Amino acid sequence: MRYTSTSSDKVSVSFKEAVLANLPSDGGLFFPAEIPQLSKEFIGSLADKSVAESAFHVLSHFCQPDLPESILQGIVERVFSFDLPLKKLSSDLFSLELFHGPTYAFKDIGAKFLAECIAYFNEVDSQKMPTTVLVATSGDTGGAVANGFYKIEGINVVILYPSGKVSVLQEKQLTTLGENITALEVDGDFDACQALVKAAFADADLNNKMRLSSANSINVARWIPQSLFYFQPFIRGLENPVFAVPSGNYGNLTSGLLPMKMGLPIRKFIAASNANDVVPRFLQSRQYSPQNTIPTYANAMDVSDPSNFSRMIKLYKERESLFEEVLPFSLHDDEILKEIENSFKKEDYLLCPHSVIAKKALESVEGNEKVFLSTAHYCKFQPVMEKALGRQLDVPSFANDLMQLPKKVISMNAEFETFKSFLMER
Ligand SMILES: *Cc1c(COP(=O)(O)O)cnc(C)c1O
Repeated sequence: MRYTSTSSDKVSVSFKEAVLANLPSDGGLFFPAEIPQLSKEFIGSLADKSVAESAFHVLSHFCQPDLPESILQGIVERVFSFDLPLKKLSSDLFSLELFHGPTYAFKDIGAKFLAECIAYFNEVDSQKMPTTVLVATSGDTGGAVANGFYKIEGINVVILYPSGKVSVLQEKQLTTLGENITALEVDGDFDACQALVKAAFADADLNNKMRLSSANSINVARWIPQSLFYFQPFIRGLENPVFAVPSGNYGNLTSGLLPMKMGLPIRKFIAASNANDVVPRFLQSRQYSPQNTIPTYANAMDVSDPSNFSRMIKLYKERESLFEEVLPFSLHDDEILKEIENSFKKEDYLLCPHSVIAKKALESVEGNEKVFLSTAHYCKFQPVMEKALGRQLDVPSFANDLMQLPKKVISMNAEFETFKSFLMER
């Protein structure tokens, strides 16, 4: 498969080049040069397959020839190694639980796949320059990326997170791994962390000393494997589901539009956002008008100008069908709290502040196979959950173990010179 850019059809690179470059230089995002079509036989046989088997078949379209079959086989077995349960809540309502990975969030899949690709490309590279992966995180991404790269030889990961702005459990996930993972607690906000990473990429001294790499969420090696989430309900016997997807940067939702375009019989999507509702507004009014970011309880979705919007547009050359196939929904903070409580009372089921938006979105659609994506375990968002439920949360035992581990972190101010000398001295 060759990759082009969402901004220009003139770009043509291999899978490997797209993964290592992260972004094309024209301001767009990498995008498959063609959309492969799934055969009727393959779709009909999904109910007899495992996720890893389906993943191998689907992903080989996108990764060849750069990942040879035997390599891709090993990668998908390691990446799709945990359960993606489809939990039935009522006769027509299902929760697709994507939070059974190492950091209890759906980003584990994409981050692990990306890490495996970079590790393989590094291994076959004759120069074998030590690589430093820089990640700025507001909570969820950093943990998933750190875990993906944990103990991978030749790759060091430096995570920058804003001091006091991530939840206790998230901080533990970032700061307790050790080995090739270093956590920096930055005295500033998420934007300050991001600015430090950006400045490092632009710095000549640093680039001469080491190979800097990013594990950004827009990388094709994070984006494409997420499409396997949408096969899972078919593997579990559903035939024509509606999907509601909690969305911020629209990586996950556009990962689902991809298999629909490949022929998977998905009925519809619902773009479920918090108060940062630029895409739902676009779907209603057909005007794309970003506003300032609003902080919400579903903070992993606090994105005002989602980068994957360009992929959504690229997938729909026939613009009209976009408005038929993707429906808008958004929910504000007070409703988020109410729905967490309602869902607990009605189904005895605790949902994180992101997932609950997608569940609520399904109340407004037709269909007897309604699936919402549960993107993270609720225990990662303890303060919001306690506010919604009006009581202390019982922390699950797996989280308790993590809470006992000592935090290993380097505290740092938000000056670039401090960050640069830290990297230079390593
Ligand atoms: C990142 C994240 C989202 C949003 O996913 P996008 O791909 O950015 O739309 C939703 N829920 C949780 C828990 C997340 O961490």
